Amino acid sequence: MKATELINLEDRFGAKNYKPLDVVLSKGKGIWVWDVEGNKYMDCLSAYSAVNQGHCHPKIQQVMVEQSQKLTLTSRAFRNDQLALFYEELCELTESHKVLPMNSGAEAVETVIKCARKWGYESKGVADGQAQIIVCNDNFHGRTLSIIGFSTDENARQNFGPFTPGFKTIPFGDADALEQAINPNTVAFLVEPIQGEAGVIIPPKGYLKKVRQICTDKNVLLILDEIQTGLGRTGKLLAEEHEGIQADLTLIGKALSGGFYPVSAVLSNEAVLGLLQPGQHGSTFGGNPLACAVARQALKVLVEENMIENAEKTGAYFLAELKKIKNDTIKDVRGLGLMIAIELKKGTPGGARAICKSLMKMGILCKETHTDIIRFAPPLVIQKQEIDWAVEKIRAAFA
Ligand SMILES: *Cc1c(COP(=O)(O)O)cnc(C)c1O
Repeated sequence: MKATELINLEDRFGAKNYKPLDVVLSKGKGIWVWDVEGNKYMDCLSAYSAVNQGHCHPKIQQVMVEQSQKLTLTSRAFRNDQLALFYEELCELTESHKVLPMNSGAEAVETVIKCARKWGYESKGVADGQAQIIVCNDNFHGRTLSIIGFSTDENARQNFGPFTPGFKTIPFGDADALEQAINPNTVAFLVEPIQGEAGVIIPPKGYLKKVRQICTDKNVLLILDEIQTGLGRTGKLLAEEHEGIQADLTLIGKALSGGFYPVSAVLSNEAVLGLLQPGQHGSTFGGNPLACAVARQALKVLVEENMIENAEKTGAYFLAELKKIKNDTIKDVRGLGLMIAIELKKGTPGGARAICKSLMKMGILCKETHTDIIRFAPPLVIQKQEIDWAVEKIRAAFA
């Protein structure tokens, strides 16, 4: 079927909760994707960092096929032979002590909210119903009701209330604001190491280190949402490593399956995850053998194929090359690893979407973030000469 027909069908039958670029993709390999007309594009979004390992990685694909022929779903009413190995390998890799597997990122966030509150009541001694969690302005943690309830994006919240109470918002990147906001009922601080959806907002150097110290001093759990920053995106396995800290709870998702299947996880320790008793949390699909087998392989290729080191090296190169583009409309170029953004000056005609549309015509797929920010986050397997190719196109798009 032709692209225009597919677009019309999609718009007729689907809820319009997205505003996609009009490119209809049907194939992907590594950093490249093809549309139904056979045009080839470099993917500079990586499904919001869910395909860090590249599209249709052959080794993950093989495991996906093989495991799907053996066993896919048992529910957690029974054990399966992939779960324990997934736990062990993931804990070893991330230096965690316990794992709670879920499916989507938002579910991992919901899970961590439950766990932090439970810890607050049972371990910290907060009075029943009083637990408070501190979050940041311009956060993005997903789309469920309790999560959008503490979003500061009006478009995400409008007419969806009433919302879950128990959250307090502070500015991002401001450790003093955290210190002041903590009270005896504060159980956790939930934060992204770099705010992705807000437009690749990088906090001041030392922020996470200070935040770690404050949380330790005040007996507050530090929860890092690494669903986007984690698994190599910023040039480290977890972004927390850039500041040499360890969160009490870490959320991962997206690239945990290399884009094959929704898999997310809460990583923590006995003191927090050990409080959950049978029946207090769960998910029919969470921890299923297909998810676990795919995730094990997705983690394996990330490490064995040196994708994390490649993200660090090629990311620094990409950022440096983008910074060389001189244009009056560019306000800022920033990034860490392969999580990069160009911010346009406010009021640039057409905004970031116009640039994304011209890049699409030249064979690069990017998505604007808000009206003025273009994010560049290709799969972590990208090579230097491919970056050179992309930078030429990006330069032309601005010219
Ligand atoms: C994508 C994302 C989520 C939500 O993940 P879903 O799988 O879409 O529910 C949460 N936090 C961050 C930082 C994300 O980037």
